[in-house]
Amino acid sequence: MPTAMEIYKLLPRKNCGECKFPTCLAFAMQLANQKVALEACPYVTPEAKAILEESGAPPVKLVTFGWSGSPAKIGDETQLFRHDKTFYHPTVLGVIADDSEGLEKMKAKMQDAKATYYERVGQIIRVDSVAVRHSKGSPEDFIEGAKYASTLIVPVVLMTEDPKLMSEAAGACAQARPLLYRATQENFDAMVQVAKASGFPLVVGGADDMGKLAELADKAKKAGVSDIVLEPKGSSAGRMLEQMTIIRRAAIKKKFRPLGYPTIAVLGSSKEDKMKAALGVMKYCSVVLMDQMPPEFVYPLMTLRQNIFTDPQVPIQVKAGLYSVGEPGPKSPVLLTTNFSLTYFTVRADIEKSKIPVWLLVVNTDGQSVMTAFAAGKLTPESVAALIESEKVKEKSTRNEIVIPGMITRMSGKLNELTDMKVVVGPRESSGLPKMLKSIAA
Ligand code: SF4
Repeated sequence: MPTAMEIYKLLPRKNCGECKFPTCLAFAMQLANQKVALEACPYVTPEAKAILEESGAPPVKLVTFGWSGSPAKIGDETQLFRHDKTFYHPTVLGVIADDSEGLEKMKAKMQDAKATYYERVGQIIRVDSVAVRHSKGSPEDFIEGAKYASTLIVPVVLMTEDPKLMSEAAGACAQARPLLYRATQENFDAMVQVAKASGFPLVVGGADDMGKLAELADKAKKAGVSDIVLEPKGSSAGRMLEQMTIIRRAAIKKKFRPLGYPTIAVLGSSKEDKMKAALGVMKYCSVVLMDQMPPEFVYPLMTLRQNIFTDPQVPIQVKAGLYSVGEPGPKSPVLLTTNFSLTYFTVRADIEKSKIPVWLLVVNTDGQSVMTAFAAGKLTPESVAALIESEKVKEKSTRNEIVIPGMITRMSGKLNELTDMKVVVGPRESSGLPKMLKSIAA
């Protein structure tokens, strides 16, 4: 974003106040802080508007594709390293249904992809997208595959380098607003026309040389395609990592607009491709498409993605309160944990293994784990006692007893004093809970 003075120099400097600010400088200062929109000044010239919009645009453009209600959002990243702030838009993972497999297999593959999702730490992680590719199969199967993909209400990628066939397929699944893969040096003009006519985002790629890739992207933009996705053509995992890093670095550090777009990697299913997929999730693929995504591979990949795209400054949390695990009653034990999602779901899963119904008291520690929260003074006898009171724990369980994690045994005395409840020190690791709960219930 330009500074207030840089903006001021581009404003009309009439000081007319129509923007609701007394002077152009005051308006410029608000604009620099992104508190007002440029449109509030009716006198900005088209030239100044173009300059200001260009300089205020994010270093990596936001591109969306897919159904308007639940589109895939890619790009709009501002950081080179996730720990500097956060990464915003998780890598879209998609499975390729190739027309050489025949229409029925393509449909089955797309259905499987859509049905691949898991719940992890309270969040749904899934295969997000399906890609329909024309290779050695019939163009009819490709078109039918595209139509079928559009009924699945997931983001769709259409893959053919034949502009005529792409135009037909794009028309057949227009409501899904697909991502078009791809324009290369060979089909460039015709494919750009398809993207322009449809208004769909376009992958520009096939170039190993970063200069050529930038040239193609710039040419596409000048030809009127604004939503662009870059595909560097790295053959090895090392080269792919290098190219993805060059693109992100050029966009973020140098504000080099021709490379300021999200990226895509199209992979097979070999061991190296799996490694590339993991590398791509970490640095810096916006979309990863693969021939196969079996559960034993995609679950760890999605877990990696979930970790990389979690804001490091905002731990994943659950709401504090008293939770039922199973169907607990007045004789059921009360266990204590914190609201860090990973802790909560691990403890809950270990309790469920015991098949013994339990009241689980979850303290708000701002998403910190037991030891961290205890050391930081966010898990104290006072905070636990207050929650016991507000959640009416003694009315729910008449055992007058609470099991605390083994790592915070030091709070036992004070907690007993504040609540008058018997404090039982549980295991240090939640994996020990089933054994302990069985001994309590016996
Ligand atoms: Fe300046 Fe435009 Fe605001 Fe008038 S409306 S004061 S010209 S910024």
